[in-house]
Amino acid sequence: MHFLSFNTTRLTLTLTFLLVSLSSVISSASASQDNVPFNPARAFQKEFYVQSNLEFTLLHELAHAVIELNDIPVLGGQEQAADQIALMLLIMADNTNKKDINPDVLNKLLAISGEWMLEWQEEKRHSKPVYWDTHPLAIQRFYEVTCLVYGSNPDQLESLRREKILPVERAWDCDIEFEKTREALAWLVKKVSDFEFNESWDLVKVRDNKDQLPGRIKVVWIEPSTQEQKQIYAQLKSFNHLADVLKRINNLLNLKTDITVYMEPFCRAPDAWWDGTKNNMTVCYDLIKEFEKNSLLLPDLVKKLKSGSKD
Ligand SMILES: [Zn+2]
Repeated sequence: MHFLSFNTTRLTLTLTFLLVSLSSVISSASASQDNVPFNPARAFQKEFYVQSNLEFTLLHELAHAVIELNDIPVLGGQEQAADQIALMLLIMADNTNKKDINPDVLNKLLAISGEWMLEWQEEKRHSKPVYWDTHPLAIQRFYEVTCLVYGSNPDQLESLRREKILPVERAWDCDIEFEKTREALAWLVKKVSDFEFNESWDLVKVRDNKDQLPGRIKVVWIEPSTQEQKQIYAQLKSFNHLADVLKRINNLLNLKTDITVYMEPFCRAPDAWWDGTKNNMTVCYDLIKEFEKNSLLLPDLVKKLKSGSKD
């Protein structure tokens, strides 16, 4: 049943154009000296892709936790706020990103935006996009990532606009969007941590309230049930990335209560969520499986669209 009529042909064409543009940036980037050295081969490499998207997922759910536990007022919807907090934490995590672009951070953001693009394809193919949901559409989340990244350094990321990955109408104000979002992050960091951003946007410790707010985030791995989940479990345990992300968050945040992250093998859908009634978040093994699958899909999709074949 159609709840809303929608011009899907136009959207397909837009997405096709976008992916073809992306692939042309990818192929031209290495040849051009003035471009930031994109290395999408790394962005789409399975382990890196999974880690990047898992990190974004954790930061997004944690943003919900911080908003709820600290009674943070939100304008414009909590899902969008959670996305922006997660993205800004990623962009601002690396100091070089302020003046320069760290290719590794860029690849991370490329892996995250790529995931949104693939989810959008999937939504259109197998189900129908849900317009009434609290989450923005996957394709809107793709543009959100791209705009904030571009806005962080428009001069160095000029290729995103030039190659029309980001339409000029949106790109125009992305630097202002970035500035406003960064100011909001600075306000939030001041509110929920012992740190503040200084004038040159370095995080500096300005007080010590850890004793009064000793909450920590810890992970509980629920025993995987299938062979596939056992593999995911072994892989996730083998790299330190998850532990590093949690260590960084625990250092930064003051929490009034402990938060438990459950790695969950029994889910109805590949998903992750925050449960404010129990102060825990859940990440499904199936979501990791989805990331793994999509890491393999993206290069093929780009190639297929580049060669002009239709799906
Ligand atoms: Zn959310």
